[in-house]
Amino acid sequence: MESDKALLRKYLPETAVEAVYGAIVEKNVQLRISRSRSSKLGDYRPAMNGKPHRISLNHDLNPYEFLITFVHELAHLFAFEQYGRRHQPHGQEWKQYFQLLMQPYLKADIFPADVENEIKLHLYDSNAANGSDLNLKRVLQNYDKKKTSVGTVVENLNEKSYFKTRDGRVFQKLELRRKRIKCICMNDNRLYLFSPLALVEPLNGFEPNQFLHLLKKMG
Ligand SMILES: [Zn+2]
Repeated sequence: MESDKALLRKYLPETAVEAVYGAIVEKNVQLRISRSRSSKLGDYRPAMNGKPHRISLNHDLNPYEFLITFVHELAHLFAFEQYGRRHQPHGQEWKQYFQLLMQPYLKADIFPADVENEIKLHLYDSNAANGSDLNLKRVLQNYDKKKTSVGTVVENLNEKSYFKTRDGRVFQKLELRRKRIKCICMNDNRLYLFSPLALVEPLNGFEPNQFLHLLKKMG
């Protein structure tokens, strides 16, 4: 329907709308635009008990990210149709469909060159530990509209520097541990692992003593 396409047009690169719409109709997918979830960009739930396949996508993804996430979830659908639950969610079975379903979009010149490059590396990367997913995320972040002027990502901060999260808690950045960054929370003295790409507010010139003082005053 035209109104469905109009909705897709709000979230996708224009040149991808027809193909995505075609896939949704072909597989009878119920697409839901979701609130922003920090734990995931989208998800897929198989058709069962009379319900259609369901894909949800966060509303605040940029158009390229929205498309890549859609194809990611669609690959889960294809893998589920062929293998049922007898396969690893992001194993070879899923990956072959992700590669296959991504091809037409790569051929159609939808993505900017830097994004396209990272997608290709990401698609053929057999080892998730070498960070191709983070590299893709990094390059996609350049296309986000909502760039906050005060914010930065944790990986850009110097070690030992302080920052604040959206909920107001204060942290000190410690060292990188595998793909996560260890930080200590000044509020509860506990250790937390941050994604290198978590958006935070740097606290320049922050002294932890100052913070203790503040805490005392508050308590
Ligand atoms: Zn997945």
